[in-house]
Amino acid sequence: MKLYPLFADLSRRAVLVVGGGPVAERKVAALLGAQAQVTVNAPTLTPQLRRWVADGRVAHRHESFRESWLDRVWLVVAATPDVELNRLIATFAELRRIFVNVVDDAALSSFHVPAVVDRSPLTIAISSGGEAPMLARLVRERLEGLLDHSLGALATLAAGLRKRIRARHPDMAARRRFYENLFTGPVAGLLRQGRPEAARQAVEVTLLAPPEAPTGSVVLVGAGPGDPGLLTLRALRALNEADVILHDRLVSAEVLELARRDAERIEVGKQAGHHHTSQDAIHDLLLQHARAGRRVVRLKGGDPFVFGRGGEELEFLRAHAVPYEVVPGITAAVACAAYAGVPLTHRHHAQSVCLVTAHGQSPDQSPDWALLAQERQTLAVYMGVAELGALQAGLLAHGRASATPFALIENGSRPEQRVVTGTLGNLVERAAFHAVRSPALLLLGEVAALAPSLAWFGQPPLGATVHAFRAQERPPPTPDVLAALHRAG
Ligand code: SAH
Repeated sequence: MKLYPLFADLSRRAVLVVGGGPVAERKVAALLGAQAQVTVNAPTLTPQLRRWVADGRVAHRHESFRESWLDRVWLVVAATPDVELNRLIATFAELRRIFVNVVDDAALSSFHVPAVVDRSPLTIAISSGGEAPMLARLVRERLEGLLDHSLGALATLAAGLRKRIRARHPDMAARRRFYENLFTGPVAGLLRQGRPEAARQAVEVTLLAPPEAPTGSVVLVGAGPGDPGLLTLRALRALNEADVILHDRLVSAEVLELARRDAERIEVGKQAGHHHTSQDAIHDLLLQHARAGRRVVRLKGGDPFVFGRGGEELEFLRAHAVPYEVVPGITAAVACAAYAGVPLTHRHHAQSVCLVTAHGQSPDQSPDWALLAQERQTLAVYMGVAELGALQAGLLAHGRASATPFALIENGSRPEQRVVTGTLGNLVERAAFHAVRSPALLLLGEVAALAPSLAWFGQPPLGATVHAFRAQERPPPTPDVLAALHRAG
């Protein structure tokens, strides 16, 4: 069966809904949204239907369905639990050439009600022709997430300007560019921020600007720790709208795969020991692409403002009057904690968290060891693999107990994640034994003791058990054995 998609204007047109239960109520709600004149026919009604009847928004007939009622309606919906009655209504409707929808019966229906994403006046209807309603629902949910709620306001704004835009850009290609910029550029951004007045002013400016001066922009996006499921909806949208993506090495391939197919991808990785693009060169690239009128996504691992030099990039963009937005991401400390089963704070174990980097500090700025060595505090140490020795020495020298537990998480949230556990006293030894490599994050503090019992993702932590086996040169237990042991406590 192939259906013809159609949007019907039902305002002030009579529609009959037979049935008074929750399904009928949902159909009536949608019909009222389209300003249809609804009559409900049922012996009993849901409380909401009763309220609509009491308010005069819906007419009600108690008596049994009569064929003659179809005389004056444009559409009929059969939503009764009585299969025979539904069939009868469908037959009468067919004879009178009135479109009928029988709830949950595609074969008896001459029109289907699609799954809808409502960004009025923009409306997206999805149908599987009655074959796979769950799939249609899934698609609807995906689109719901993908399409910002401000799209409706954007459509209304564009509608009001149509004539002026046409006059300003008589050339079709120029007009398309204008619309594209309107729908994905700063004006759309202002509407997303709930600032319709500013958006209107921005449109005025773009309508007055010379048409050959396209305005590029930069979105600084946090890509999270690697698992693409941890991207925000806004990050996904930015990736879908990008012309150019400048990304760090740390950004996972799975995340990059979600970006627009024809977006240009430029790696501007900065990693110790590898060829890297200097910060100045990154600034130049951002400026060059934005000035060429492109929508630039600057994609960074984790969150752009946590050891990501996002602040410096924004200062540069501001100084050069390039419009920008920032989309936060899940930072490594938060992600690694979640994926290793280490609550960053815990009523009984830690009252504060400290995000620190073990790397990149100037020599005259030695860390405040006394502060870092406090008890009942969780340290989340970024970029620390090479500095574990100094960290261990500093903390021990300032009184942090050698028995303080740690969890060192390598490739957090990625399929190859490894978690090494131990205590401050054997931190360096453990990390070396398991050859932990960057990217890895150290969580140190009382809460780290919970990792073996709360771990849920990937391999169980490589803790004392495995270490003991390896030290005796015996093959360690397999992960499922360890998992069973952990479950058993
Ligand atoms: N802006 C990033 C941090 C960049 S600094 C954020 O908010 O997460 C790079 C450091 O982050 C790495 O050296 C490592 O310590 C940590 N890191 C980033 N991703 C990680 C991951 N998936 N697993 C473990 N550590 C990670």
